[in-house]
Amino acid sequence: MDRLLAGYRRFRAKGWPEQRRVFESLADLGQRPQALVIGCVDSRVDPTQIFDAAPGEILTVRNVANLVPPYAPDVAYHGTSAALEFGVRVLGVSHLVVLGHGMCGGVQALLDGAPEQARDFVAPWMSMADAVRVRAMKLADAEQRQEYAEREIIRLSLGNLLSFPWIAEPVVAGTLTLHGAWFSIRSGNLVILRPDGTFGAPE
Ligand SMILES: [Zn+2]
Repeated sequence: MDRLLAGYRRFRAKGWPEQRRVFESLADLGQRPQALVIGCVDSRVDPTQIFDAAPGEILTVRNVANLVPPYAPDVAYHGTSAALEFGVRVLGVSHLVVLGHGMCGGVQALLDGAPEQARDFVAPWMSMADAVRVRAMKLADAEQRQEYAEREIIRLSLGNLLSFPWIAEPVVAGTLTLHGAWFSIRSGNLVILRPDGTFGAPE
């Protein structure tokens, strides 16, 4: 906690004076973010840092392995779906970005089984991507399997986004666009999912 508070003091000393007007204007006028990023909890993959976003620019929801669950309006506690509803229906974002990444511990748990102490929630959460696991296990090379699964999960999440009627509708109308992206922790490079279904460097 001391480290966190030291960081807060640095922010108050430097970041806050620099961005004070931005925060004040956001407080007065409210937020109008254009994009919502669904990322992973991984400490090395911060959407705000990767997209060099200012306060108020992007909404982020982060969970294990950047998974979007299928649309299921029931009594369960749907954190990711609630964030999507808030971003799309209330704030009217025009872009949804699923941001996957290399060396994802959630994907590793999917492929190798969740660590013993993480079976209450991680295992059932990752089982959402079981079809990806089955396909990935057919690949011989373990490293290939991991990256394959990381990218397939991005496609799975994008598919599940379309199961939300209030996402599918504006997507068809052209007022909401879905994007997939994958970030390499080692190289700092981002590749995006292109219309032909492959990942490549952004233009
Ligand atoms: Zn991850």
